[in-house]
Amino acid sequence: MPKLVVGIDVGGTKIAGGLVNLKGRLVQSLIVPTRAEEGFETSFGQILTVIESLLQQAGGKESIEGIGMCAPGPLNPKTGLVINPPNLPGWRNILLAKRVQKKFGLPAKVENDANAAGLAEVLFGAAVGYRDVFYVTVSTGIGTGIIINKKIYHGKDGVAGEGGHVSIDYRSPYRCGCGTLGCIEALAAGPAMARRARVRLEQEHTAPSLLRDLTRGHLSQITPRMIQDAAAKGDPIACEIIEETGFFLGVWLAGMITLLDPEAIVIGGGVANIGKPLFDKIRHTIPQYTINRRFAARIPLLPAKLRKNVGIFGAASVFLPEGEES
Ligand SMILES: [Zn+2]
Repeated sequence: MPKLVVGIDVGGTKIAGGLVNLKGRLVQSLIVPTRAEEGFETSFGQILTVIESLLQQAGGKESIEGIGMCAPGPLNPKTGLVINPPNLPGWRNILLAKRVQKKFGLPAKVENDANAAGLAEVLFGAAVGYRDVFYVTVSTGIGTGIIINKKIYHGKDGVAGEGGHVSIDYRSPYRCGCGTLGCIEALAAGPAMARRARVRLEQEHTAPSLLRDLTRGHLSQITPRMIQDAAAKGDPIACEIIEETGFFLGVWLAGMITLLDPEAIVIGGGVANIGKPLFDKIRHTIPQYTINRRFAARIPLLPAKLRKNVGIFGAASVFLPEGEES
C-alpha cells in the first residue's frame, strides 16, 4: 500500500530530495550540491542517486506512490519535458519524467518550481483551507503559480502562470530577461530593488544613507537584505525603495485579483522577508487598481510558510491527494 511520495527539487546549486507522507509530513530528506558545470549526464546521475537513496530509506519502491520533481522553467509539466533551464548547462529538451519513470518503474512527474511551491502552500502551508489561490515568490526573479480548486492551472501548453512576466509599464526603460519591457520581475524583484537604490544614491550623491556605509561606498554591491536592514533603522532612501516595491507589487497584484478573483494571495521569497512595511504598502495599493475593490481591500495576503524545504514539498505535492494535475 503506497504511503510515501518522493519529492525532488532540482536546482542549479543543489538537488534536494525527500520522502513525504500522504499527510504532507517530511519524513526523510537529503541534499547534494549540484555539479551543474559538469553537464547533463553528471547532474542527471546525481538526481538518480538521490532517488535511489530515498527509495532504500523507504524500504523499497512498494511503499512509493510516485516521484515528483520540480525544476526551474521553461518546462512542460504535461509531457515532463525540461526545455533549457538557464542554471543547468547541458540540459536541452530532456524528457525528465519519462527517463525517471523508466529507470525506477514508478510514476514520475515534473512541475515548474513556482507552480509546485504554490500547490504545496495550499495543501499544507500558508493557504490551508483555501482552494483558489495566487502564489508569488519574490527573490532574484518573480515566480508565480495559479491554483484553482486546489489544482495547478497549466494552460494549453503547460506554461501558464508566468505572472512575473506580466508587464505593468510598457514604456519602462528596463528590459526583462524574457525580452519584454517593464515586467513586474524587472521592476520589483531583488536585483531591481538594488538597481533602483543604486541609481537613486548616484543621482543624489550628497544625500547621506546607511546604504553607503553598508556597502562601504561600492553601490553595485547593494542587496535587498541591506535595503531591509537600512530601512529597519529608518534610512529614508531604503524606506522609499521598499515603498516603491510595494507599490509596483500592489498594482500588479490588483490586476491578478481583477483577473482571477482568488480567495487569498501567498507571498514568499527572500524579498517577502521584509515583512510589514512591504505588505502594508501592497495592501494599501491593491484597492486603488482593481475593479474588485471591496473584496480586494480585505483579501488575505499570507506570508509563505514552507521555507527551507518548499521545493521538496512542492515536488511531492503533485502526487499528494488533491494535488493531481488539472
Ligand atoms: Zn519578463
